[in-house]
Amino acid sequence: SAAAPRAPILPGATLGVMGGGQLGRMFVHAAQAMGYATAVLEADAGSPAGQASQHHIAAGYTDAQGLSALAQCSAAITTEFENVPAQALRTLAAQRPVAPGAEAVAVCQDRAAEKLHFQRCGVPCAPFAVIETAQQLAAVPDALLPGILKTSRLGYDGKGQARVADRAGLAAAWASLQHAPCVLEQRLPLAHEISVVLARGADGACVHLPVQQNLHREGILAVTQVPAPDVPQALQQQAVHCAEAVAGSLDYVGVLCVEFFVLADGRLVANEMAPRPHNSGHYSIDACDVSQFELQVRAMCGLPLAAPRLHSPAVMLNLLGDLWFGADGAERQPPWAQVLALPGVHLHLYGKAEPRRGRKMGHLTVTAADAAAARAVALQVSALLG
Ligand code: ADP
Ligand code: MG
Repeated sequence: SAAAPRAPILPGATLGVMGGGQLGRMFVHAAQAMGYATAVLEADAGSPAGQASQHHIAAGYTDAQGLSALAQCSAAITTEFENVPAQALRTLAAQRPVAPGAEAVAVCQDRAAEKLHFQRCGVPCAPFAVIETAQQLAAVPDALLPGILKTSRLGYDGKGQARVADRAGLAAAWASLQHAPCVLEQRLPLAHEISVVLARGADGACVHLPVQQNLHREGILAVTQVPAPDVPQALQQQAVHCAEAVAGSLDYVGVLCVEFFVLADGRLVANEMAPRPHNSGHYSIDACDVSQFELQVRAMCGLPLAAPRLHSPAVMLNLLGDLWFGADGAERQPPWAQVLALPGVHLHLYGKAEPRRGRKMGHLTVTAADAAAARAVALQVSALLG
């Protein structure tokens, strides 16, 4: 079970984080705002989190010296990167409280383990088959086609996935994924996508953000709206119950996100989960009185978890590297001054030097007095960004 401190870790202490991406950066900001210092373990010297943190340990996730240095300087350790090797978390946990724990993270790292866990919790997920051998490939039931083949490990933002129409396409797709261990999921008729971000303490207390409704483009999150405009309250409640069941049975400590599909026939199906704050929860920085990153700090420190309250309807837009290229293909700076002239626009850029197409460079959240006004400004922002 996840180790958590017996007495709360109080401001002034140093909090460690595995990984240097934007999630780590926003964790660092939240921790520092509360008076903690931070230490980031990340090999990349100019990482988004490393830039913001008091301490930066430039080492890989399995580097024994790096892990020892992180444990030395940190009172507790969390992770911002879902694919930190579970063994590294076990090594750290021998010395310091680590939240979430290695075993919970290991389940989230593997799509097959994740789906089996959903099933154990009685949470419906897409019909699927594990494909690790040619025999398993041959034995796939026809009912799973057309489907989506996903690598069991290391996929993100739609990477490591292929849509397959039939058996020939499936075999070709598995070959193109180097015959890596995969799951094949039935392609479902999605009406909407929602997600639940919750925080769970070592005492089992759970709080959650208001349910997010998410729009993906080419497998990458593009827009999050809160309150979820198209999903009935009862279904949102059901998603929260499912996410709490999943967290509870993992003895989870920390912030967890569970993504769900709402199908055309109204059924709710769990998609995947992430053992950390989530892109769909970024709006909470500007639109809730407690953000998902403050919850991460509170959970790992053994502090009380305050239930977040939405104080403004919000629309979050992801800012991908594509926006840094004009119609002529030349690199440009997006028109921030014009964007920031609009009411209720909160800009977050992650300090990534090099824009690349499909790369998450930042996000912005539009807050307004009502949801229609937030949507109207978000449309104006989109028009300005082209
Ligand atoms: P990632 O780890 O890249 O986020 P996901 O499994 O969440 O991978 O898939 C990315 C997106 O692809 C989902 O948000 C959804 O829009 C679409 N998708 C994934 N699985 C299915 C499915 N079984 N049926 C229909 N659409 C799917
Ligand atoms: Mg996803």
